[in-house]
Amino acid sequence: MRTSAVLAVLAAVALASPAFGAPRDAAERRMVATVEADNARNLKLLEDLVRVNSGTMNLAGVERVGQMLRPEFEQLGFQVRWIPMAKVGRAGHLIATHKGNGKGKRILLIGHLDTVFEPDSPFQDWKRDGDIVEGPGVGDMKGGDVIIVAALRAMQAAGTLKTADITVVLTGDEEKPGAPLAEARADLIAAGRNSDVALDFEGLSRVGGRDVGSIARRSSTSWTIRAKAPSGHSSGVCKPAAGCGAIYELARIVDEFRRELPEPNLTYNVGVIVGGSQADLNAGDTGGQASGKPNVIAAEALARGDIRTLSEEQEQRVRARMKAIVARHLDKTEAEIVFSDDGYPPMAPTEGNKALLAKLNQVNAALDLPEMPAGDPANRGAGDISFVAFIDGLVGLGMAGEGSHAPGETADLKSLDVQAKRAALLITRLSKEPRPRR
Ligand SMILES: [Zn+2]
Repeated sequence: MRTSAVLAVLAAVALASPAFGAPRDAAERRMVATVEADNARNLKLLEDLVRVNSGTMNLAGVERVGQMLRPEFEQLGFQVRWIPMAKVGRAGHLIATHKGNGKGKRILLIGHLDTVFEPDSPFQDWKRDGDIVEGPGVGDMKGGDVIIVAALRAMQAAGTLKTADITVVLTGDEEKPGAPLAEARADLIAAGRNSDVALDFEGLSRVGGRDVGSIARRSSTSWTIRAKAPSGHSSGVCKPAAGCGAIYELARIVDEFRRELPEPNLTYNVGVIVGGSQADLNAGDTGGQASGKPNVIAAEALARGDIRTLSEEQEQRVRARMKAIVARHLDKTEAEIVFSDDGYPPMAPTEGNKALLAKLNQVNAALDLPEMPAGDPANRGAGDISFVAFIDGLVGLGMAGEGSHAPGETADLKSLDVQAKRAALLITRLSKEPRPRR
């Protein structure tokens, strides 16, 4: 490029910057600078957290991670409580509350302390290669927990924390919730009832290298089908006197699901199936055993699977269709479907959630970052924010990464600062909006 062309480009940039940079006031500039200055400290905290195994069932490890985060919030003036969850067979939740001026929107920040990698997993420790870190839970979601801390610290440095009403809920059993679920999530739901907006720091979604916003999550509901039929000699199978048996009935049901259920934003899966003269699932419903003979009509068959839907309306409608399919029994057979009551509800893409993404995009403009389009909710699994879907919410404020829930999970360290800046500005701006009357 010739010098004059370079100067022309520089001039254009100089002219363009104020338009984007204008909304950034002194406090916002201070938050940005603080996040950058704290980078090494934030990275160290992330490394320390990842190096402690906190598989959901490693109760001591989960509590240890909670203890490590506790002082981070206390230093910022939060009241911190550890809520033991022995009654649901899990470690507990860390809840930190910050009293502001009582005027602005009350903001709920959601994270979790646990990972899917238990102590017996071969995937442990922390491995850094440039900007990419490999480690259990680094992206899902210890990175998000660190981003919460980094954003709040930046707010404190800029003086915008003191007026903000904030509750942080870090659950200890997001990956494998305790039972009954209603008790395991009671504290999160109560925090949601006392908040006006929820931000969830699960991993940032990227599509084709572009950051996208997440305004919805699908439900996760498991189901069990039990089919029964009279047994008999195989020479009479599917004849009027004997009927087809339980395996054909179950096969009919799951095949009609496959052919008749598909619609946008719905997935339906069969995960395990057993059948024979005698069949049963094991205690954890993760497998089972069956016995039978080629020349005997099957008397019992069972299947387990899940459905994922985008709204409560879709959830109820699909369940009704599944029940109707089950009820079209083959002659002489019977079957019933039971939906578990420990599923995750859907978080629908409401107008309030869309408006929240628009505010995040105003923050992006202030930070000279590209606009984030709304991502496809079909790409997001169920999550804790779904339990507080009765208030406006946004997901995916954590670190970008790949391969969550599988050994070799990574996070992109470049996303830590960017996400902490976005969060600090967004939380600050929301905390200045008037609290809605309820
Ligand atoms: Zn997660």
